[in-house]
Amino acid sequence: MGIKLGSISGIPLYLDYSTFLIIALIAYTVGFGFMPVSYPGLSWTVYLSIGILSAVFLFVSILIHELAHSIVAKNNDLKVTKITLYFLGGISEMPEEPPTANLELKVSAAGPLMSIVIAVISFVGWMASIQLHASVLIQGPLQYLYLVNALVSGFNLIPAFPMDGGRIMRSLIWRRNGDLLRSTEIASKVGRVFAYIFMAVGVFFLFFVDLFDGLWLLLIGWFVSSAASSELNQLRLMRDLGTLKAEDLMTRNIDSVSPEITLSELSSRFFEYKHNGFPVVDSNGDVAGCVTTDDLRKTKKNLWDSTFVKDIMTPKEKLITVKNDEPAELAVTLMVRNQIGRLFVFDSKTGKLTGLITRSDVMKAIQVQESILGSNRSGQPPADRQRFISVEEGMMFEIECPAVPGATWFAAYNTGEFTLISQNLVQLSGGGQSTQFTFEAREKGRFSITLYPHTKPNPREALIYSVVVS
Ligand SMILES: [Zn+2]
Repeated sequence: MGIKLGSISGIPLYLDYSTFLIIALIAYTVGFGFMPVSYPGLSWTVYLSIGILSAVFLFVSILIHELAHSIVAKNNDLKVTKITLYFLGGISEMPEEPPTANLELKVSAAGPLMSIVIAVISFVGWMASIQLHASVLIQGPLQYLYLVNALVSGFNLIPAFPMDGGRIMRSLIWRRNGDLLRSTEIASKVGRVFAYIFMAVGVFFLFFVDLFDGLWLLLIGWFVSSAASSELNQLRLMRDLGTLKAEDLMTRNIDSVSPEITLSELSSRFFEYKHNGFPVVDSNGDVAGCVTTDDLRKTKKNLWDSTFVKDIMTPKEKLITVKNDEPAELAVTLMVRNQIGRLFVFDSKTGKLTGLITRSDVMKAIQVQESILGSNRSGQPPADRQRFISVEEGMMFEIECPAVPGATWFAAYNTGEFTLISQNLVQLSGGGQSTQFTFEAREKGRFSITLYPHTKPNPREALIYSVVVS
């Protein structure tokens, strides 16, 4: 997080704190390293001024580069959440992937093209300033601006996904094979190869050329490699969530606390329920906010008897929420983007709190989806591994698993939805044994129970029961 600078055509602009350090570093290296070679014999105040001007110009050109990406995206109805300038350059945050290969190509090419344009303009400006015998304060920064933008566009065009060049490459592969996930897998593999090359060259520089450049390359390599994997994982996760809704992820029976209890009471609730946070619900059953162990820790212990939950909770207005019928993908995106561990789900019709999605709910849903999609990613689960049951709330029902030699079946389900009453081995008349589970349905809705014949879940062996509880 950093400082908000303002917004340009509706896109909020942030400056990461690391930027100040880097502006100072650039001002120093340009002013006292690069400039005395090109323009010898000036006073240190002039070098310092050229350095600062150059560093500021550099950040403005990075900003224009990012704006180019964002404006092309916005003009094509893609959402841009914000632009953050940080020590490696800029990041335009777009919560969704471009819907088509051609659009991705346009969006990712816009930045480097803009850097080339800035390089050309500043080159012409630099030439003109020499002809006109302009002050060194103009000549120096223009020369630097030209060099650095040529460098930025060249560097960004290296096909190291998720850098611009890598995105361009992905869009070209995507255009040919029509498969975004497969293209991302290829691009991210190539990206990681480049990341290792950056790091190897970085280590070489570190020892034999220049410590600073070496560290810089190591950092970029590390960044590219982790960003390539995380983007691929995110895409896989979104694919797994598929058509699920927020309500498919959420836990329905949620424990809550009253806004009127003291922090001492709250602390014992945390111990009792082993939760890291509670929704705060008032006597009318309306949500007033949310309180977490972090909120509690911020208050001194001797004040716990005289402070109430309502004094420390995050009020309802500040909570990030979803509606039950919104896509599960949106819920996960909100949790990742805002770095929150729990997300409230409100009913779209009544406006009441109906559930809570935590990180472990998301992981469980992904596990189930992975097993359903298993070998057959694109379509429905194979019919022979999917079963449907319809039961009533509060009712007990049995599931009998087929005999698998040497296997004891194991069930994955949500404890808020089902209670496992018993698990028995049944001897079959023809030899062998099967496993019989008895569950009680705790909650109305559509849920699933996944069964594996071994404790190590293998999607190919899983049986998926879709249980409709009415
Ligand atoms: Zn870019």
